[in-house]
Amino acid sequence: MTALTKETKLTLLYILIAFTFSVLMRMIWIYQFTGYEAFMHNGQFMINTNDGYYWAEGARDLISGVTQANDRSPIETAASQITAFFAHILPFSFETVILYLPVFLSSLLVIPMVLIAKNLKNLEMGLIASLLASIAWSYYNRTMVGYYDTDMLNIVIPMFLLWSIIVGIRTHESKYLLVMALSILVYDWWYQSSYSLEVSFFAMVLLYTLILDRKNTYNYKFMSMMLLSMAIPENYFGLGLLIAIFFLLKGKQVEKYIYYIFGLSVVLFLVAGGFEPIFNRLKIYIFKDSIMSAKEGLGLHFYSVMQTVREAGQIPFETFANRISGHPVTFVISILGYLYLSYRHKIMLFALPMVGLGFLASVGGLRFTIYAVPILAFGIAFLITEISSQMPTKKLKYLTIIMLTLGVLYPNYKHIDGYKVPTVFNADEVKILENLHKVANREDYVIAWWDYGYPIRYYADVKTLTDGGKHEGDSNFPVSFILTNPQEQAAKMARLDVEYTEERFESNRTLSNIENMSLDYGFSDTNDFLFSLQTDIKLPQKTRDIYFYLPFKMLNIYPTVKVFSNMDLMSGEKAKQPFFFISRNFKDLGDKIALGKSVFMNKKDSTLSIGSNKVPIKRFVKTYYLKNGELKKDVQVINPSATLSVIYMSNYNTFLVLDEETYNSLYIQLMVLEEYDKSLFEKVIASPHAKVYKLKI
Ligand code: MN
Repeated sequence: MTALTKETKLTLLYILIAFTFSVLMRMIWIYQFTGYEAFMHNGQFMINTNDGYYWAEGARDLISGVTQANDRSPIETAASQITAFFAHILPFSFETVILYLPVFLSSLLVIPMVLIAKNLKNLEMGLIASLLASIAWSYYNRTMVGYYDTDMLNIVIPMFLLWSIIVGIRTHESKYLLVMALSILVYDWWYQSSYSLEVSFFAMVLLYTLILDRKNTYNYKFMSMMLLSMAIPENYFGLGLLIAIFFLLKGKQVEKYIYYIFGLSVVLFLVAGGFEPIFNRLKIYIFKDSIMSAKEGLGLHFYSVMQTVREAGQIPFETFANRISGHPVTFVISILGYLYLSYRHKIMLFALPMVGLGFLASVGGLRFTIYAVPILAFGIAFLITEISSQMPTKKLKYLTIIMLTLGVLYPNYKHIDGYKVPTVFNADEVKILENLHKVANREDYVIAWWDYGYPIRYYADVKTLTDGGKHEGDSNFPVSFILTNPQEQAAKMARLDVEYTEERFESNRTLSNIENMSLDYGFSDTNDFLFSLQTDIKLPQKTRDIYFYLPFKMLNIYPTVKVFSNMDLMSGEKAKQPFFFISRNFKDLGDKIALGKSVFMNKKDSTLSIGSNKVPIKRFVKTYYLKNGELKKDVQVINPSATLSVIYMSNYNTFLVLDEETYNSLYIQLMVLEEYDKSLFEKVIASPHAKVYKLKI
């Protein structure tokens, strides 16, 4: 056995230290919530990202072997497959695996980081940088315990790719051709949008070759391999093919033909789709119109979800800097450090695409910041090692390193300590879905706002109309319509949209469901069709049951839900927002109750003061639960001709002020008041957290 060199031993030690540190910091959340039952299910903490339930659904189906057509379960995705694999080989529960997977996978980031530093002969920089990067604000947020999403490897894999490029170009060793090819293959498998970064890395290598190292055949081998890795399908066949190509390129004799091979690779890359994915992505981010209109059919206009997604907004500098480095000062010094590092080691310029992608966050949304994290961490770590190397004694040198590193880490630790994100669901909500699972069939539909789509499918194994990946304006419209319209229209729309959704899987109709409905019922104006739902129309054949999941939580987003159907689809014109006011912070002032800054309910004459206006109250409703869980309500009609009603949900400490339209909506009637039309709905589950009804038509 060959003894490990001192450098190798130190490399392994630093990786181990940084990895352990990264894992331990992610345990702080667990420590903080130990014993908090509301966050637990099956004896384990639940995850805290909605999208995680998507991968979990796929993994669950892979493990059980159940596949259904058109259930949107992602059994083909890498995240679900890797989860199923770990759940299979590890002796832990499924809940434990998905909770901790992000902790361990994201901490792998420290490996390529230390290896890059090793190649630059500055191992200490690698240790410092990986300590910082592994817990830096945004990287932590997106890879913390329970943040079970593709982010857990989204930076790790490109960092391995970057490492293979840096070391490959520096050493010209053949083996890095294979490491690079595998990184690209795995990255393509893992993440749909891997292309943009890969192509940018390719562009960097091309520039480097053309400007600095034009005659070097290795560079052309490397670039050919890059293009082919991107072009080749990410499966076992592709893997075999890449290994074969590697052995071909490895040989000396191939060098005569290297320019032809490179040319051929370019052609193959373009034939395989080339730049197309990038253009498509750019289109999405650049043309984020709020109203999308279709070219065919009735030319309907829908409300786009992009507008309500917080991520896609402009971010202030401080937030941006905090996300990348933990503190604006660290951030600025990190940039200077990266510039200096690139000046001293030109090879680090290969990391520019990651910095660029990170900076794209300032226009494209916060989630991009994580790409810049490891590179800028190198920047400040390099400065720390440079400063400490000026110290007169070894002791002073290490003291400097430790003090400065702790200083850089501290704001990120503070962030972690204060970042007490809740789980997506609480234990009671999950119980409701598990009970629903017992009564609902796998092919039945549960109607709920898209936020709840993935968790509902995971816990209840049913189908949904919308979810975190299917929430375009035309998908959201019917669900919004159902939740915010009177019971009769809502019930009919529910049956229609479910049957039309299923029918679409079999046919090749391209128009939106709502357009198809309008046309099938003989209307050329969708408004007329929607109006006809109040009449006695013939509904499609019932093929399955439909349930409505109405969580109390949705009360907070009711106005947002309403927006998606509160418009004229024909003209794209938005209608007036309904009156909806929610108060949890009310105060009894004796003669009146302060519901908000300028909203008061006057007890004496039973009126509302809104700003300087005094308006009468139509009804005052008080709801409360009996010991046995039954909902009771006292309804006082005060002024029948008034428009606003007040609902006091006493057990929730919540006041609602609603106009007549909102008051009559399915959500308010069924969730808040349990006032349902027994010819249309059947109450299945009623808990204070959520209510579930079954459609009878
Ligand atoms: Mn299913």
